[in-house]
Amino acid sequence: MILISEVGPRDGLQSISSIMPLEAKKAWIAAEYAAGVREIEVGSFVPAKLLPQLADTGEVVRYARGFNGLTVAALVPNFKGAEAAVAAGAHKITLPLSASETHSLKNLRRTHAQVMDEVRAIAQLLQTLPIAERPKFEGGLSTAFGCTIEGIVPVEKVLSLAEALMAAGCDEVGLSDTTGYANPTQVKDLVRRVRAVVGEEALSGLHLHNTRGLGLANVLAGLEVGITTFDSSLGGLGGCPFAPGASGNIVTEDLVFMLEAMGLDTGIDLSKLLHVRQILQEALPNEALYGFTPEAGLPLGFEQTADR
Ligand code: ZN
Repeated sequence: MILISEVGPRDGLQSISSIMPLEAKKAWIAAEYAAGVREIEVGSFVPAKLLPQLADTGEVVRYARGFNGLTVAALVPNFKGAEAAVAAGAHKITLPLSASETHSLKNLRRTHAQVMDEVRAIAQLLQTLPIAERPKFEGGLSTAFGCTIEGIVPVEKVLSLAEALMAAGCDEVGLSDTTGYANPTQVKDLVRRVRAVVGEEALSGLHLHNTRGLGLANVLAGLEVGITTFDSSLGGLGGCPFAPGASGNIVTEDLVFMLEAMGLDTGIDLSKLLHVRQILQEALPNEALYGFTPEAGLPLGFEQTADR
C-alpha cells in the first residue's frame, strides 16, 4: 500500500493568488475522501496577511476531522502555528526547515538555530497533550536536493539537520524537493543516507516537485528504496513559478495512474479522482490545471488492482 498525501489545499493554493472559497475547499476534501484519499494537507497556519488563501485553515482542519480514517495534516511555520494546529485538532503537523540557510532566512525569516528552538518548543507543547490527542510531528527538510539561491546543498548539511530535528523532538523527517532539482540517483542516495542517520522508520515520505519533468521518475526512485508516502497535488494546482507549463507538485492523478498501473495499491479509485478536478475548475476558473492522465483519459482495458 502506497499512501498518497494530497497537498493541493496547502501547496497548490498557497502558490496562486485566487482565493478558493471555504465551501469549495470542503467539497474538494470530501470528494477526494470519497475517491479513497486518506491523507490531506489541508492548509498552513501562517498569518492571514501573508497568505490570505489559507486564512481559513483552522476551519478546514475542523471540517476535515469529520472524515473517519482521514489523516488531517497542516503546515506550521512556527510555535504559534503549532498551537493553532493543535487547537484545531490536526492529526499531523509539519514544520518546514530549509536545508539552505539563505532560503530559510528568506522563507521563514529564521536561522537554522532559531528554527530548532521552535522545534523544541513545539515538541514540549505536544508532550503536554494526552497521547491520543498528540499530532504526529514531522520536520520537513525543504530544498534538500538543491536551492534556487545557494545552488548545491551539501548532503552533510541535510544529514546534520535531519539528526538535529529528531534530537529536538520530531517524530519523523521528510525530504522535500521544493525547487525541482532532484534526480532519481540523488533521491535514492539521499534517502539511504538520511535513513542511516535517523533510522528507517523516521523517513517514510517524499515531497517532490515536477519543475523539470522528473517528478514521477523521482517517485520510482523513492519506491525502489522503500519510500511509502508521496505528496502530490490534484491537477498540479499552483504550477511552477520558475517553469511555465510545468506543474508544481506532482499531479495526483498521474501519480495514482502510474502506481495503480504498476499494480501498487493506493486505495484510490482513479475514475472518481478524475471527477474531483471539476471542483477546482469551477472554483478557480482562472487557474491552470495540469496532468496527462486527466487529458488523455484512462487506457482502454485499464483496471485497478483492488476491488472497491
Ligand atoms: Zn512543495
